[in-house]
Amino acid sequence: MKTNITSLAPPCLGLAGSDGTEVTGLSLAAYAHKLARIEAALARMDSGRYGFCLTCEGRIKLTRLEADPAEARCDTCDMGEGA
Ligand SMILES: [Zn+2]
Repeated sequence: MKTNITSLAPPCLGLAGSDGTEVTGLSLAAYAHKLARIEAALARMDSGRYGFCLTCEGRIKLTRLEADPAEARCDTCDMGEGA
């Protein structure tokens, strides 16, 4: 069974290859991961906790959020996670 998710997703997610071909299973998994992070970030916005570290509850640096708006941890805690 094949679900063509790429035709439904906005191009900014980078799902389709440069030539518009279907993505591999690996990048689809990466997409699911990316989507989960974005949804988590949106949930934090709803609860008014966006921009604060999940681990230490300190502020996440603006430069860090600019690089990855779905970032959930400050740079200190992210290093501690090891991933
Ligand atoms: Zn932290």
